[in-house]
Amino acid sequence: MKRTSSLTTRIIAIVTLSFLLLLSLVSYSHYYSMREFTKESETQKSELILHSIAPVVAIDIYLEMDDPMREYLMKIVEQNPMILKLTVRDEKGRTRFDYASPRASLEVEPIFRSTELHNQMNGSNIGEIEMLYSNAKYEMLLTRYRIFTILLFAGAMIIALILLLWLRAYLSPLKKLADELKSYDPQRHNFIKERMESKDEIAVIHNAVVDMVENIENYTSKLYELNLKLETKVKERTRILEETNERLRREVVERTRAEEALKYANKMLEQLSITDALTGLHNRRMFDQNLANYWKMARRERMPISLLLCDIDFFKRINDNFGHLAGDQCLKELAQILKACISRPMDMVARYGGEEFIFVLPDTPLLGAVGIANDIMQRIAKRNEATYTDIKFTLSIGIATVTPDEKSGECLELLHAADKALYAAKEKGRNRIEVHPL
Ligand code: GH3
Ligand code: MG
Ligand code: MG
Repeated sequence: MKRTSSLTTRIIAIVTLSFLLLLSLVSYSHYYSMREFTKESETQKSELILHSIAPVVAIDIYLEMDDPMREYLMKIVEQNPMILKLTVRDEKGRTRFDYASPRASLEVEPIFRSTELHNQMNGSNIGEIEMLYSNAKYEMLLTRYRIFTILLFAGAMIIALILLLWLRAYLSPLKKLADELKSYDPQRHNFIKERMESKDEIAVIHNAVVDMVENIENYTSKLYELNLKLETKVKERTRILEETNERLRREVVERTRAEEALKYANKMLEQLSITDALTGLHNRRMFDQNLANYWKMARRERMPISLLLCDIDFFKRINDNFGHLAGDQCLKELAQILKACISRPMDMVARYGGEEFIFVLPDTPLLGAVGIANDIMQRIAKRNEATYTDIKFTLSIGIATVTPDEKSGECLELLHAADKALYAAKEKGRNRIEVHPL
């Protein structure tokens, strides 16, 4: 699109138009006042002529001086070409002077004026003057002026119209640009990037907007590409992270399982290390540990501690007669009986070795220990009465009780005392309880 005139040119044109409009307005108002003024002055002039000639004509009529009057009136008519017709009549209506211009019949709108003639002496009516005059000269001037004003106004209107169309044509690209920008969406690329060739302000704005839109679209597409790359990278990283997470999770699960298995194995090992495999009771090791602890506690708290050392009588015979497995079975059965005799959480029974079992009863005086021993004896007797087995056995129990103090030595003394009591029970015929005093 080629555009040549700048905004400045258009502003100058608008100012000129405004000046023309103002001029036509001034001209019209001038015409209007001139017309009014002319009408008034014409009236005044005709009035003046009538009133100035009336006294002279009145005297002439009164003195019946017709010729001088005619001469006088002809001079008046010659001097005032605007007079078309001039007629003088006396009081009887007789025509004393009559003049008619050749233009009189041509005049379209002649103006009629008349005045009465009065006797200067007594004021009586002695006739009248009638005058028909033309103001065509002024009308012509006024018409010219009017035409000039109308032409001026019409010209101004035409210029205004042209200017309006011109401005519209000038501003329409701006409107188009505004509409396009309003509906512009950088992602749809819906802006028509056509450049203007002219160098006017709108073309400059338009081309600048086109440049801007091109830049926006370039940046948008770059941004879109970067976004895509970023998205791919984020997806890749997320995938790697998820894989690492999954691997770590599996490792944690495996490790937790391994740890639990290890814990369980350790627990089992610990259990095995303190448990007798055949009977499931605590073993000698556990007994030694517990006895040492309970001994210290008893010494500190000044409380009695009792030991019950139990030994199956003639167990060798059972093995010999019924076999080792039967002997093992008896050991297991006895372990269950002994376990059932314990009620306090601190009390413990352990396999001391071979067919010997030992109880540690902290905070238990001799009477309590004897009670438990009796309970054991009763339960074994009851077991032997049962018919399910031919293998019967009895037990010898040695009891030792002491309340240790600072002077007391190690717990071995107590252990020896229990052993001695057991020995005494064996000596006294077995299947009995013996107490070794301390
Ligand atoms: P006493 O009345 O004097 O105690 O006589 P005893 O036969 O019970 O004592 P002895 O010390 O002579 O024999 C103990 C026997 O216990 C010897 C051994 O074969 C047996 N014995 C030791 N430990 C086990 C074991 O775990 N299983 C079996 N079946 N027998 C065992
Ligand atoms: Mg023995
Ligand atoms: Mg024995």
